[in-house]
Amino acid sequence: MYIISGCLLGVNCKYNGGNNRCDWVCDFASKHSHLAVCPETAGGLLVPRSPAEIKDGRVITKDGEDVTAQFERGAINTFNVAATEAVLREEPLEGAILKSRSPSCGCGKIYDGTFTGTLVDGDGIFAAEVKRNCVKVMTEEDGPIE
Ligand code: SF4
Repeated sequence: MYIISGCLLGVNCKYNGGNNRCDWVCDFASKHSHLAVCPETAGGLLVPRSPAEIKDGRVITKDGEDVTAQFERGAINTFNVAATEAVLREEPLEGAILKSRSPSCGCGKIYDGTFTGTLVDGDGIFAAEVKRNCVKVMTEEDGPIE
């Protein structure tokens, strides 16, 4: 089973109420067992919501609100749900395909907390949780894969 960011599959869970639909990820999902997730909404954040970025280890919205607790709760809960679902399906967790650059789902590069579009090395809160559990993470920019 794969974990896939819901917004890549067209779910309108993005901060602005839209999505990041990606054709190859949708095609991949039609052929592979997967679970669509959104760790930010799972952490109790609403759609739409203020955009957030990571700065000095904290997740701060553009309005200056510290939403680190919601991001962390959403990341842990989402991973636990996915791990449980994989057990129920009697399948291994084969990997995760997550939205690039997101403060939750980004892998390898994320925005720097200045809301200027500047990227720095790092992982989003959920991507880090997935990696911590030794599940391979890629983004839509690493594909397409079969
Ligand atoms: S938390 Fe992840 S799945 Fe949810 S909108 Fe942001 S990038 Fe997409």
